[in-house]
Amino acid sequence: MTIFKKIIDKEISADIVFENEHVLAFKDLNPIAPHHILIIPKKEIATVNDIDEENDKVLIGEMFIAAKNIARKLEINEKGYRLVLNCNEDAGQTVFHIHMHLLGGRKLSWPPG
Ligand code: 5GP
Repeated sequence: MTIFKKIIDKEISADIVFENEHVLAFKDLNPIAPHHILIIPKKEIATVNDIDEENDKVLIGEMFIAAKNIARKLEINEKGYRLVLNCNEDAGQTVFHIHMHLLGGRKLSWPPG
């Protein structure tokens, strides 16, 4: 079981900013930007490679819709923000429950390291 499943089950606390039946969004413990939110599906999916083409379409859509609504609420939608999903070792994935990073509130450089 991952740490994110424990957050979903409310076994450990997190600063939750949005929740519905499909997704949960909470502040990253070690923020790398003024706004750093993690948006996760409630269903346990280890990596982007494990997304089910038949069954997970609504879920993945819900993650993006949550992201854009949170960005609007944080008032970073006009200036801009970045959505990132790290997959496996080369991308630096550390928690094996897919999560979308929403980063904003400062100018973000490109390309990423
Ligand atoms: P990854 O490197 O896998 O893409 O990102 C994992 C993220 O989860 C990191 O940014 C890390 O700071 C965050 N994180 C890890 N454990 C916890 C936790 O227990 N609570 C919260 N809120 N964030 C966590």
